[in-house]
Amino acid sequence: METPGISAFLHKRIDEYSFKPVTYKKGKVVKSADGVVTVEGLTGTRYGELLEFSGGVFGMALELSDKAVGAVLFDVSESVQAGESAKGTGQVIEVPVGENLLGRIIDPIGRPLDGKALRTEKYYPAERPAPPIIDRRPVDTPMATGILAIDSMIPIGRGQRELIIGDRQTGKTTIAIDSIINQKDSDVICVYCAIGQKASTVAGVIETLQKAGAMDYTVVVHAGASDSAAMQYLAPYSACSVAEYFEERGKDVLVIYDDLTKHAVAYRMMSLLLLRPPGREAFPGDIFYLHSRLLERSACLSKEKGGGSITAMPVVETMDGNISAYIPTNVISITDGQIFLESDLFHAGVRPAVNTGLSVSRVGRSAQTNAMKAVSGTLRIDLSQYRETEVFTRFGSDPDPATARLLKKGECLINILKQDKSSPYTLFRQVALLVAHKTGALLDVPQKEFKETLKRYLDFMESKFASEAESINAGGDMTNDTLLSLEKAAKSFGETLK
Ligand code: ATP
Ligand code: MG
Repeated sequence: METPGISAFLHKRIDEYSFKPVTYKKGKVVKSADGVVTVEGLTGTRYGELLEFSGGVFGMALELSDKAVGAVLFDVSESVQAGESAKGTGQVIEVPVGENLLGRIIDPIGRPLDGKALRTEKYYPAERPAPPIIDRRPVDTPMATGILAIDSMIPIGRGQRELIIGDRQTGKTTIAIDSIINQKDSDVICVYCAIGQKASTVAGVIETLQKAGAMDYTVVVHAGASDSAAMQYLAPYSACSVAEYFEERGKDVLVIYDDLTKHAVAYRMMSLLLLRPPGREAFPGDIFYLHSRLLERSACLSKEKGGGSITAMPVVETMDGNISAYIPTNVISITDGQIFLESDLFHAGVRPAVNTGLSVSRVGRSAQTNAMKAVSGTLRIDLSQYRETEVFTRFGSDPDPATARLLKKGECLINILKQDKSSPYTLFRQVALLVAHKTGALLDVPQKEFKETLKRYLDFMESKFASEAESINAGGDMTNDTLLSLEKAAKSFGETLK
């Protein structure tokens, strides 16, 4: 950019300082109930504009008609009375953004919730347009979650939108939090947006992040179950604006929206109170747009735009595994894939409870590292073959030796894919585990010794291939020779177990 002349620069600065007279239109509150207020006489109000009531209470205009304006209040404990005056501020909701937010917990309008002062210079509106097509580029860099079942079979790329979907208490939040923890040694910034959750649950999440040292690169945006519907509605948009600040500066950002079901419910409540016509499941007609405009803001920016990205992991809760309900189908169709968690698997001890048959990643394959590609090729087929055969053997017939081996290999693979929470694997460890599956090195390990043997195996491989591990973890590339020697070592480890 060309440097402006001194006079031109000063002129601009003085222009910025000049105060213009502001004219307000005053309206009158005619109705106020359940946090929704109807104001008459406010012409010229914008959609989403902040309204100030005479008692100093703020609301957001969401329903504009020729006679009246419908607004929702931000604070449920404050009240507005009929007959009070109201004025439009000409402002939309803005949220503070910047490096100072790292490690902080804020609410959707930017108030710090951790009891410390917050100083930022920049403010972004909560609602911002999604980047246009020409500013985007295809997803080509992996966003490693450190969870073997996901990185190997449902790989996620930076700039992708991957839905985490499942019934309550199936480990949805755990997957999201583990993904944040795994970004510790990468340069990814994380934003965790909690919508409509219990304060105790969110406190638990923050404690987990702090213990893992993940708060240093994470921002938490929180609108709890006791906050107003308007705050819950705003939360994901604000979180996205916080992320966009970093994205615009060439950083890769991971944003978790936990969860969009509660977000939709908050919006439904506001819409019904604003007397909008209810549609399917009583949601308003624009419920699809509610989430599509949010998730379209995650993108992989082109090199000219700085090359930053926002990866979104929205969470959606299902009832009884029903992924064809309204909100799940909407969000599935907006995102680039889903990780489907199943109650039955979770209770059977298969954790993370990923149902690989119903989970997909539509763009992540192209972002997978060479090392992972080399070992994960047949994994999905192996697993589905095992599941299919397992169903038949339930009828009690004695399987032939080939089927018995397939079953044994499948069981072993399921054990390999089990992973504790808050313990992400490095890429080398993931590769080593898949090599163990490929070579059948851990086939004869009894179930109750499996976890301990697996740990011993990983330590053995890591100490034997220290330099290879370093280069695989750093670049994600693996030569064929390395793969062959890994396989050889895995086999020899298997021999020692016999
Ligand atoms: P909610 O519907 O209440 O939001 P959720 O689907 O987000 O639940 P989580 O809170 O992540 O589920 O997990 C539920 C419980 O399962 C937690 O107590 C968590 O510790 C446990 N859990 C999740 N994943 C694992 C795992 N891989 N290994 C062991 N325990 C796990
Ligand atoms: Mg949860």
